[in-house]
Amino acid sequence: MDLLTLLRENKIDNKLYFPPTIKSSWLAEGVLQLLPQSEPQEKPADALIISAGIHGNETAPVEILIQLLSQLAQGKLPLQSHLLLVFGNLPAIREGRRYLDHDLNRLFGGRYQHFSLGNESSRAMELESVIQQFFNDPAVMASTKRRHLDLHTAIRGSCHEQFALLPYQAREYAADFLQWLEDSELDALVFHNTAGGTFSHFTSEHFNVDSCTLEIGKALPFGQNDLAKFSNMTTALQDLIAGDPSRKRTKPALKHYRVVDAIIKQHDSFQLNLPEDTKNFTELSEGFEIARQQHQSWKIRSPANFILFPNAHVAVGLRAGLLLEKLT
Ligand SMILES: [Zn+2]
Repeated sequence: MDLLTLLRENKIDNKLYFPPTIKSSWLAEGVLQLLPQSEPQEKPADALIISAGIHGNETAPVEILIQLLSQLAQGKLPLQSHLLLVFGNLPAIREGRRYLDHDLNRLFGGRYQHFSLGNESSRAMELESVIQQFFNDPAVMASTKRRHLDLHTAIRGSCHEQFALLPYQAREYAADFLQWLEDSELDALVFHNTAGGTFSHFTSEHFNVDSCTLEIGKALPFGQNDLAKFSNMTTALQDLIAGDPSRKRTKPALKHYRVVDAIIKQHDSFQLNLPEDTKNFTELSEGFEIARQQHQSWKIRSPANFILFPNAHVAVGLRAGLLLEKLT
């Protein structure tokens, strides 16, 4: 039986075997820690978290994680990092839904406490404690570099096919992490301007991890994804796992954006003045009324603003889109 079927049938943890060079342990359902049996000679191995399926309907990242898992189990991919593989929201993955009760990627950093107990609030709590457990492992504690890549796919089309969202952080972004993102052939980077409840923000803020949310394109139902379309990302992840991130970018220069504003739906009368099929990174002209609610009109105040994740159908109090400004 293939690994994807085992994962969906909740049988993967007792059917997966690794070569003797890898020490494996399940820290929670769908969370697998893999450590090399012997540390590399020159310096401690880097710590690396790769997560997928935080949104259960985003299939391609789950398939990529399964592919990496299978290569590690077969000894085809050398393990030179302290690795944590996370299948984010298994009940939602099994049902092919984004989430069951609440969007899991808004609940981290303790925000789950403000929500009723349910599938996602208990999973956010569990994942936070599992991350703590991973970094408390004496081997992992010795790692001088910590990275977290949280893999997602977008629902809508995008002017930049693949992009990373970097959480807001007071410290500098690590140069070698930005270099890895560039060399992984992404098209754009987006820097957040405020804290958020995402998984990547949590690991960045609480564990000093170089983290990001990776949007790697559009996904199809399980088994129908053409994984070749995501091969740049799979290869870049394999390089990190094998401790050799030395590939060089061949595509045109990466574009940089930063978040300047969040459009918040504050009332049922909220109306977003964009067609449903508006692509991510669509440019909006100055003076354009992008949204309206009650007596408030939301206009674009400066030239060269771009829209990201527009969605009028969110609950009141939630974000209906992000406004970006181009840096490079
Ligand atoms: Zn997602």
